[in-house]
Amino acid sequence: MRIGLTGGIGSGKSTVAARLAALGAAIVDTDAIARELTAAGGAAIEALRDAFGARAIAADGALDRAFMRAHVFVDAAARRRLEGILHPMIAVEALRRADAAGAAPVVFDVPLLAESAHWRARVQRVLVVDCAESTQVERVVRRSGWSADEVRRVIAQQTPRARRRAIADAVIHNDGLPLDALHAEVDALWAHWSAAVL
Ligand code: ADP
Repeated sequence: MRIGLTGGIGSGKSTVAARLAALGAAIVDTDAIARELTAAGGAAIEALRDAFGARAIAADGALDRAFMRAHVFVDAAARRRLEGILHPMIAVEALRRADAAGAAPVVFDVPLLAESAHWRARVQRVLVVDCAESTQVERVVRRSGWSADEVRRVIAQQTPRARRRAIADAVIHNDGLPLDALHAEVDALWAHWSAAVL
């Protein structure tokens, strides 16, 4: 069984992923893979240097994220080039990790699932964790100490909630839900999907 998991910042996606891991799922985190690929010595660094020049690589050998963010913000072609390098490498590594999980059900944690028909074709079910924007802001302010405006800016750059919900096979509404109730919802969904696939 392969499941795609997505949700906006502060929605509770990581909390749901941790519960799914406790139920026996292998979690493949595509954000973590992207960070590894672009860290110093990461497999994408040389291709990124070829594409964007030495200025794209920081003194420590990692991708210069601040440079890259500013660059792709003003240049859509550069964004496509960056994604053209990273997305296939992320997919290859994610699928390698899924295969390494053997018989365990796999949950792919993919922030851009709603943007990617490729990813949706690789999973049998899509699980979306959703909550009100005000809840997202409140959680992330508490967790990271960012200002509410900073959090709102990040949310504005992410996939709109409605677009995420539109691709969902199941939505967990993680609002005003005590943690044990959230866990119970995940458990019930897991039991339901496991039975359907068996
Ligand atoms: P995401 O991965 O979507 O950014 P997290 O799972 O890290 O979100 O959740 C953000 C914060 O909110 C975390 O500190 C988490 O413990 C807390 N949280 C999420 N859902 C609940 C809930 N139902 N009850 C209490 N705290 C929650």
